[in-house]
Amino acid sequence: MTEEPLIYDLSSPGRQGVRSPLPQFDPVDPGDVLPSSELRSDLPLPEASEIDVMRHFLRLSHKNHSVDTAMYPLGSCTMKYNPKVNEVTARTPGLADIHPYQPPETAQGALELIYELEALLAAITGFPAVSTQPAAGSQGELCGLLSILAWHESRGETRTQVLVPDSAHGTNPATGTMSGLQVISLPTADDGGIDLQNLKESLGPGVAAIMLTLPSTLGLFERRIAEVVELVHAAGAQVYCDGANMNAMLGRVRPADLGIDVMHLNLHKTFSTPHGGGGPGAGALAVQAHLEPFLPGPRVVRNGDTYELADPPPTSIGRVHSHLGNFGNLVRAYTYIRSLGADGLREAADDAVLNANYLRAALSDDYDLPYDRTCMHEVVLAGTRQRRLGVRTLDIAKRLIDYGIHPPTIYFPIIVDEALMIEPTETESRESLDNFIDVMRRIAREAESDPDKLHDAPVNAPVRRLDEVTANRRPNVRRQPPASGT
Ligand SMILES: *Cc1c(COP(=O)(O)O)cnc(C)c1O
Repeated sequence: MTEEPLIYDLSSPGRQGVRSPLPQFDPVDPGDVLPSSELRSDLPLPEASEIDVMRHFLRLSHKNHSVDTAMYPLGSCTMKYNPKVNEVTARTPGLADIHPYQPPETAQGALELIYELEALLAAITGFPAVSTQPAAGSQGELCGLLSILAWHESRGETRTQVLVPDSAHGTNPATGTMSGLQVISLPTADDGGIDLQNLKESLGPGVAAIMLTLPSTLGLFERRIAEVVELVHAAGAQVYCDGANMNAMLGRVRPADLGIDVMHLNLHKTFSTPHGGGGPGAGALAVQAHLEPFLPGPRVVRNGDTYELADPPPTSIGRVHSHLGNFGNLVRAYTYIRSLGADGLREAADDAVLNANYLRAALSDDYDLPYDRTCMHEVVLAGTRQRRLGVRTLDIAKRLIDYGIHPPTIYFPIIVDEALMIEPTETESRESLDNFIDVMRRIAREAESDPDKLHDAPVNAPVRRLDEVTANRRPNVRRQPPASGT
């Protein structure tokens, strides 16, 4: 594939994209409004025609992998297909063109949508109160822990520790630390669940909460959840559920019924709103009634037939995002939930679990399976057998690119040696899963017959194996200066 030049290298002085027939505004002289220290004498932006820009970015997009191109089994990320009807509704002018600071009486439809979305998420999770404000799963976690701490404080208690199983998502200990808490790691029992004895020993008057990723990053449901909740509550602490991956439980389990106190949901995973590349997310937070006074605000309230924005009460942890969160994502999640309906959501969860278990059963002959039991929406395999042949999990991941499949999450969860964390999602067809199985088996054969070949993978991709360490430690994100004379 030919190298795509930088847009700067396509620049030619005087070229421009769009010529507007509309009357021009009088340009403002920057010197009239900015101090001279802030003025730039040269701003070397590229000058290119519309067709050059179009082709440049379209060619770049063709080099990329996306869920619209092929299977994307990136564990814990739920790269399910995002139905395009979500985009249709999100682009409805009445929803796309509103301004966050428009008076609420002129944005009734948008407020109603948020109100209804919160009600739908409440019905799905069983929690009475939901805030759509957090802009990411990790921000939902932070709001959840801060709400728990505020609740403890309201009862005159100061607690400084949070328990986090070592099978939790990496954001959980990070959130504990950001909340100012001491993070205590709980080891995973042999069956992949929580070690109750260890939990008992770790609980004490200083523990504010346990943060439980459910299903865990091993793709397993916590079978001792009832005992965990009981022990934690008996110690005066709260149960936080990381529900980023509700995909496996929709319509089957309402986490509030398990006694969980607070959970966040990643709308950009479970509810099919686009994510990746650091784009806008939505980490709605759902809580039991006793934690509602602490939720971030403002919140939408209904008053008769009108919707209003209520300022957060004094007990609230405050505002964590402008306005009500990433509204475009909320519209997409609402559309997804409404278009599937209750039956459709349950079917999505059932198929997500079925698909992951189909892969588990088909691949356990060729790859090691550290926790050999029915999994939820994802399955964690291990490339330990291949490593003994001189092939690392990284090589397997890179080889998948050659076969047109995005690699799964690798080396995570960290408690599994050479982990391959595979989440097919429910939107992959039987044929697509069979193709993945076929490719994974082929790679297992290649590891046996020609391990060295795998060290070179990918060989069919726009770029070959990158020096990722250098790219991380010394990223070069600057444009190279144009060659003289251009
Ligand atoms: C993705 C994920 C998160 C983090 O969500 P962000 O929106 O990326 O902040 C947290 N926990 C789990 C289990 C996840 O899969």
